[in-house]
Amino acid sequence: MTVDSTEQYGFGTKAIHSGAPIDPHTGAVIEPISLSTTFAQSEPSKPLGIYEYSRSANPNRDNFEIAVASLEGAKYALALSSGSATTALVIQSLPINSHIISGGDVYGGTHRYFTQVGNTHGVEATFVGNLVQDLKANLRDNTRLVWLETPSNPTLSVTDIAKVTQILKDHEAETGNRVLLAVDNTFLSPYISNPLSHGADIVVHSVTKYINGHSDVVMGVLATNDDELHNRFRFLQNAIGSIPSPFDSWLAHRGLKTLHLRVRQASQTAQKIAEILAAHPLVSKVNYPGLKSHPNHDVVARQHRDGLGGGMISFRINGGANAASVFTSSTKLFTLAESLGGIESLVEVPAIMTHGGIPKAERESNGVYDDLVRVSVGIEETDDLIADIKQALEKAAA
Ligand SMILES: *Cc1c(COP(=O)(O)O)cnc(C)c1O
Repeated sequence: MTVDSTEQYGFGTKAIHSGAPIDPHTGAVIEPISLSTTFAQSEPSKPLGIYEYSRSANPNRDNFEIAVASLEGAKYALALSSGSATTALVIQSLPINSHIISGGDVYGGTHRYFTQVGNTHGVEATFVGNLVQDLKANLRDNTRLVWLETPSNPTLSVTDIAKVTQILKDHEAETGNRVLLAVDNTFLSPYISNPLSHGADIVVHSVTKYINGHSDVVMGVLATNDDELHNRFRFLQNAIGSIPSPFDSWLAHRGLKTLHLRVRQASQTAQKIAEILAAHPLVSKVNYPGLKSHPNHDVVARQHRDGLGGGMISFRINGGANAASVFTSSTKLFTLAESLGGIESLVEVPAIMTHGGIPKAERESNGVYDDLVRVSVGIEETDDLIADIKQALEKAAA
């Protein structure tokens, strides 16, 4: 693995130069895509270079991992075939019959994995509404992992990672039981937040979203500073085979090189849209971490770079499910679609789309009502996006 030598630089410089060596054979400034599945050996068990077989390691995957580790301030990163495969790998690394505690409004697929797949090797999940308040009371002798999404999806509640870390440290001091903290950082990307620096053990991403950022790759990544955890994850991934292709690794690495520009732009526009929504008579509630009215605005100020709110907004629209439907069908630049974090703006209704699989009562207890609209702000011109939101609100009001 090539070592990252960009430690002294700022984020944007790291994004462009870490894991991006000039090709020593041709001088190419952009790495070639290395499709070979196998690598020649000079004598049995003596590979010519550092690679043997592409499931175990591949140059494009290595370079992407070096870049992500650099941006997350981590010792190691491990790229996987999807965000969901990343979640699965973390859960599969736990001993049989482990207990995990998860935030309530997590990604729908994560909820599905915790409740309908993890149980096949005895993993039981408890979901709690507020990890800082409810974590201690829910810790058991066999609790091995806490899963946290901040901001949560789709209500964008923000959790103080350092507080959760402290609760787990106190628990370890009292009982001797180490409970790992995994933070799903997909919604913010490493540009806005670095959970490891606040005490998390593992940070995970759906690369599909901001890191790749162009809605053309499904991929995942995790990062950690812990040698033992990393070795276990790498061993398991090689055994299971949940690897991304060289081409996807290359594309995701290309996407990552503009992460700082994209996320900054999306955040700046989202801030303006959130403020307009908050003042609009048709909108009853706006969830956006960048608003001063956000319940955890003080945590945002500490935990997010420059207090940025990110590119995701959700809001409740007056007129119920029907108004939500008219609004999301009336936008012209915001495409009605699931997913988020791409260059193009998207809009959706979580209750019947991304979160449709969660029972209504549970959904609503997490704030996911039928009139909730989720917006992923892209990087089109700010004024065009604002005009589009305004005209769709007018149609929904009529
Ligand atoms: C999309 C997403 C995932 C799952 O990632 P895939 O790449 O779609 O498998 C996990 N967590 C969050 C927060 C997501 O948005």
